[in-house]
Amino acid sequence: MTRRLIGRSCAFALVALTLHAVVSIAADLPRVRLVATGGTISNRAGSRLTADELLLAVPSLSRYVRAEAEQFANVASSQVTLDQWLQLARHINDLYQKDPALSGIVVTSGTDTLEELAYFLDLTVRDVRPVVVVGSMRNPSTLGYEGAANLLEGFRVAAEPAARNKGVLVVLNDEINSAREVTKTDALRLHTFQSRGYGVLGVVDPDRVVFYRDVVKRHTAKSEFDLAGVTTLPRVDIILVYQGATSDLVKCAADAGAKGIVLAAAGAGATAPGQSEGIDYAASKGVFIVTTTRTGSGRIAADRAQPASMAAEDAPAAVLQRRQRNSSSIAGEDLTPLKARVLLMVALTKTQDPATIQRFFTEY
Ligand code: GLU
Repeated sequence: MTRRLIGRSCAFALVALTLHAVVSIAADLPRVRLVATGGTISNRAGSRLTADELLLAVPSLSRYVRAEAEQFANVASSQVTLDQWLQLARHINDLYQKDPALSGIVVTSGTDTLEELAYFLDLTVRDVRPVVVVGSMRNPSTLGYEGAANLLEGFRVAAEPAARNKGVLVVLNDEINSAREVTKTDALRLHTFQSRGYGVLGVVDPDRVVFYRDVVKRHTAKSEFDLAGVTTLPRVDIILVYQGATSDLVKCAADAGAKGIVLAAAGAGATAPGQSEGIDYAASKGVFIVTTTRTGSGRIAADRAQPASMAAEDAPAAVLQRRQRNSSSIAGEDLTPLKARVLLMVALTKTQDPATIQRFFTEY
């Protein structure tokens, strides 16, 4: 009898010890918060997955992190408004400010406009801790739904100390890309998110998260953009350059109240002859004109990058065109038209000085 009692108390002690070990290991895991906004990753037929249901879809999450979740929105990415962008950036800044023990934040988004939201957060969240944007190409009701895998990888990256100070990261399909560089390149394929010539920042492998390079442009904690006091983002439109394009769309954007126009120009910055009058009209109304390339990669150099002494016959036509326009002409550097629009919107909340805006385009 006594021996049986001793045996039983030993077993209890063992269970208690094991439980204690499990609880303290769990307590040591990094805390990562999901802020869900919707998108295909939660677009289950019938009813969308909630933030909590997204967590339940990833049972192995508890091996890596202490996960928590909140629902910010539950819509397609194209339905998220610019006011919601502002609210989301403020909310993430608040979460980090009030919670020093929070290790990372994962944001789910629809993939269609994910790259725009991610770059906005890259410019406006001011903390070194990771913000990882995750989505999926297949919805939860589809065979081969990859959302749960992407979410797990997003959480693992958000919990990873090496992911700090790298700006906002986009994680899908086992790859980590910089929010500044990544673009959705395919309407359907799983490998749609690419950083083109720059390549991935890192990968999420079964054994660990691996980074291969850093982000040298300014972002997050080094950003000078402060949303305090910003109630609305200024209107900035994108106008595509193509053969035979005319001036009326540019004029229309200016008349409709655009504070900036991003030209998705041909090649290294050429516009259609028919657009010149409209661009000059917009510039004369004080609208900032940012030239980018529609090619998908490459750089539009700031005028100051051209030697001032460069003879007219040696300067690229696009540079001459911009020199002739008033000082509100900005070179978009290597930003795609979509990213340049995001930067110009954010820039215009801070300054109206063309030289400062040009500096932003070379530094961010
Ligand atoms: N692919 C869509 C998006 O980018 C998601 C569709 C949906 O969630 O309804 O938001």
